[in-house]
Amino acid sequence: MPGLDTFGQGRLRELVAYGRKVFDLRKGFESVRDNRREPKVATALVAAAVFFCGLLRTRSFNALEPKLREKPFRRLIGSPADGKSIGSADTLSRALRRIDLPTVQRLSIGIVEKAERNKVFREGWHGAMHAVAIDGWEPICSYNRHCNHCLIRNVRVAQGDGTVVEKVQYYHRYVVAMLIDERFDMALDIEPLLPADLRPGNLGKNGEHEGEQTAAIRLLRRVKQTFGWLELVVADGLYPNGPFLTVVKQLRMSAVVIAKKDGDEPLKEALALWGDQPPQEVIIDEKAKERIELWDCRDLRTLDSYDGPIRVVRARVTDSEQPTKPPHTWCMVVTGVAATRLTSHAVLRTARGRWHIENTGFHQWTTLWRFAHVFVHDANGMLALYWLFFAAFNLLTLFLYRQVRCYGRDRGKDATRTISRLIDEMKDDLARLDRSPWDTS
Ligand SMILES: [Zn+2]
Repeated sequence: MPGLDTFGQGRLRELVAYGRKVFDLRKGFESVRDNRREPKVATALVAAAVFFCGLLRTRSFNALEPKLREKPFRRLIGSPADGKSIGSADTLSRALRRIDLPTVQRLSIGIVEKAERNKVFREGWHGAMHAVAIDGWEPICSYNRHCNHCLIRNVRVAQGDGTVVEKVQYYHRYVVAMLIDERFDMALDIEPLLPADLRPGNLGKNGEHEGEQTAAIRLLRRVKQTFGWLELVVADGLYPNGPFLTVVKQLRMSAVVIAKKDGDEPLKEALALWGDQPPQEVIIDEKAKERIELWDCRDLRTLDSYDGPIRVVRARVTDSEQPTKPPHTWCMVVTGVAATRLTSHAVLRTARGRWHIENTGFHQWTTLWRFAHVFVHDANGMLALYWLFFAAFNLLTLFLYRQVRCYGRDRGKDATRTISRLIDEMKDDLARLDRSPWDTS
């Protein structure tokens, strides 16, 4: 792996050089296709413009529009020096609507696959396993703008005068898969929840939208097919049920799933067995300043809709600096042969690692990146944009981890600030970009 020095000056130029050399990013952009008729702007330029719009956290296509006419940005996306205008905000959103989705998926997936081949994920996570977290995500909702793929719900809204009215709200909801790891997290895949009239096989005939789990199962099957090396699924309290765990088993994966309902099997049986028994293990985590009491119960078979043994782990976590504060209790349902070798403490840590998808993923994507801005309101256009933003997110994550030396050390401390500072640096670099960063001569 080349060191920083070989990339020359400027973080932005370094990032492009890293993307070009290690991930063949140029070719990735050039492989993107759309079905516009006689497009004036090449699809590769649209893909690159949206990718860098995401990476540099530009707040809207309107904010990006003046840059599209400026030389530095055109150099950045690899537009030929004598090339004509690369269009407007409208050009970008029109092209996104017509993009051939598998071709943008390839771009993002290709980055993760290449990193895997380069052994970036070799170490794995707890128990040396590679874990994928899945979770529902709702980036946008609106009272007026909608499309034919919007989900619809009635919500009660308080008015200024204190009265409450019922309003129709339109929204898009997805299930996202993210590789979670101690060191970094990667966006792997995304699947929309379908509105009633678009569900296959007349399933939405009673006007019901698809549930999150239906989309999640579709997503998980595809994720495992794409990334065969994933071994462990981590999910929240929606998923400790037979149908989901059965799919995990069919895919020859393990699962660590949060269980919240005391009355549901297999947690019910585990709680009955534990009764008032003292914990089987107590761990003092000096670093996290926590006292952790653990109960572990294997080979439960009380969940009728699942054929196989289930393990249940309970952890009671007390803040050792504030022992009077009520403890937090976690319950986890664990399936799969590979997960049996996780210690009960590792099961807890895996389950708690699920916050990565909410924090590194959704929270940052919304607050720091611009994932929740409606760049384009169209089912295909939104997915195309998310895939390009995923590619940008993944490349930046790998760049930070592999190329920016202090980053690994700082991650635990204030990674968010480190990244924001880096993006600001790259924006400054863009203004000074006097030659194409793609030019290898
Ligand atoms: Zn919509």
